Amino acid sequence: MTYDALIVGGGPAGLSAALSLGLARKRVLVCDAGPPRNAAAVHLHNFVTRDGIAPSDFRRIGREQLAAYPTVEVRDARVGAITGSRGAFAAEVGGDSVTARRILLATGMIDGTLPIEGFTELWGRAIFQCPYCHGWEVRDRAWGFLASADHAEMLTHFALLARGWTRDLTVFTGGAVEVDEASQATLAKAGVRLETARVARLLSERGALSAVELEGGARVKCEALFAHPPQRQVDVVRALGVALDEHGLIAIDPMRRETSIPGIFAAGDSTTRMQGAIFGAAGGTHAAAMLNAELTAELATSGQL
Ligand SMILES: Cc1cc2nc3c(=O)[nH]c(=O)nc-3n(C[C@H](O)[C@H](O)[C@H](O)COP(=O)(O)OP(=O)(O)OC[C@H]3O[C@@H](n4cnc5c(N)ncnc54)[C@H](O)[C@@H]3O)c2cc1C
Repeated sequence: MTYDALIVGGGPAGLSAALSLGLARKRVLVCDAGPPRNAAAVHLHNFVTRDGIAPSDFRRIGREQLAAYPTVEVRDARVGAITGSRGAFAAEVGGDSVTARRILLATGMIDGTLPIEGFTELWGRAIFQCPYCHGWEVRDRAWGFLASADHAEMLTHFALLARGWTRDLTVFTGGAVEVDEASQATLAKAGVRLETARVARLLSERGALSAVELEGGARVKCEALFAHPPQRQVDVVRALGVALDEHGLIAIDPMRRETSIPGIFAAGDSTTRMQGAIFGAAGGTHAAAMLNAELTAELATSGQL
């Protein structure tokens, strides 16, 4: 049996794509190997009707709703090598081989870590990427923003945005990012402190972040730290060789959501810097709509429907 679509990844993007394709009566296989990108987080914010939900419950409800559509199958399995071409892809799924007319990549991104003592342990608990997701609980507390050379252009933008949640904000550049005089003046006007010394380690008490220790031993009170460690694509995406943009994200045609490989679509974090569950879900719905429109036209005009 050939699936109409193999969806690689069962996060917000993959589950939403599967819902659309199930509604459209397409035979779909969704494979998810875990862990999700937000595995370290205890709750998920900024998704209307699901605000504050545990990430595992979000996925459970998504799967429960898919169960209403008999043409959608969900497997906890890793997708390995994908070969073939539009209309006739083959993929390793767990120990099996499956065939599919189209592929939809909803694989998320892998967050790296930073070589700072305490970073890995506190990631997702006291170190966050997005203030909409985790700012509310720590509003008015001592915040830090760990600027990185990769996102230097976001430094002032992020610092000014973060001021909406707290007056107590320090930007740590670790000496890695040059802050020009105009930006320094803007930060000072907004009451944002700038620390340029290298960050030596993160201090915590009973699992909660308490301070950032700088090289030389100075300590800056910090209860929530925002950071954007480097990200990478998962193996299956890298092995496929789909074109990536200058940020390492899968390049997609904004309307068709198709990648550089005909028949392979993509959605979610792996395609955008606007990374959030609701963006992922919207991207999955969009990619599924595009995939379904062209697949249905093909099947209908070739006597296969
Ligand atoms: C710590 C943290 C907290 C966050 N909190 C929030 C929040 O509160 N609100 C919010 O909106 N966003 C939050 N985000 C962002 C949010 O998690 C992502 O934007 C969202 O999960 C993206 O959805 P996705 O479907 O693209 O990817 P993911 O949710 O990462 O799902 C991709 C899935 O694909 C699977 N996969 C990858 N490769 C394969 C393969 N070869 N075979 C099978 N499966 C595979 C992965 O294991 C994963 O389960 C948070 C992110 C982090 C890091």
